[in-house]
Amino acid sequence: MTRMNMHIHSEYSWDSKMKLKDIAKILVEHGIRYAAITDHVEFDREDIMFVRRKFSQRDHEMNEINKQYEGRLKLLKGVEISEPDLYPEQVKTLIDVFDFDFVMGSIHDIPNLKTSKNRKYVTYLYYQRMLKMIEAGNIDVVGHLDYINKYYHGDYSDFNQVTEVLHAIKEHDQIIEVNTSAERRAGLNLFPSMDKICRYKLVSDYVTIGTDAHRENELVDNLESAEYLSEKIGLQPVIFEKRKKIVL
Ligand SMILES: [Zn+2]
Ligand SMILES: [Zn+2]
Repeated sequence: MTRMNMHIHSEYSWDSKMKLKDIAKILVEHGIRYAAITDHVEFDREDIMFVRRKFSQRDHEMNEINKQYEGRLKLLKGVEISEPDLYPEQVKTLIDVFDFDFVMGSIHDIPNLKTSKNRKYVTYLYYQRMLKMIEAGNIDVVGHLDYINKYYHGDYSDFNQVTEVLHAIKEHDQIIEVNTSAERRAGLNLFPSMDKICRYKLVSDYVTIGTDAHRENELVDNLESAEYLSEKIGLQPVIFEKRKKIVL
């Protein structure tokens, strides 16, 4: 039985139109008890005042929905910050002002990602950026670890570099997510790939599971199989409340 979806984008993300009340209704219909709304924060295009306004409004709306569905569904206050280490002051302000349950950091873009023919080198740069993000701290979860595979439909990562990234995640008390959007976005099984999930198990016991939903039909997409797989590998799916891991 699926109990959670820890990666959902509402209309407070630039690329989603889903209303929180519609998200909540669908999740309750599917018996999901905990769901993190992880709206995008992109400081390269959104200034801190804009971000503060949108999260104030979202907090208010989310509190109302949580009251309405008390005992059936809890929406967790999450955020997915793009390249957070590049904007330390804005990230600090955001985290100080809002009482997030859950902060995810993701690498969405690096120079030459789509144009370079040297996929191995760009993949190296991608993980190098990720390592800097992990080391900068202030995040709980590293989003869609090998997302770069979406662009290349294959894996050009360096084995040792990925090992270094996985160890850094552990050292900085962060965890990864199992993100089910890989299938619909790139025809891949999961972000990260199964072999990386198994390697991650060597350094950690915990994951979050999420669909990275931007549309209503993505709200429960492959959640059950991701949860089943994680548990079979020995990884415990967790939620976060007030930035603390909770095993259900
Ligand atoms: Zn993302
Ligand atoms: Zn996302």
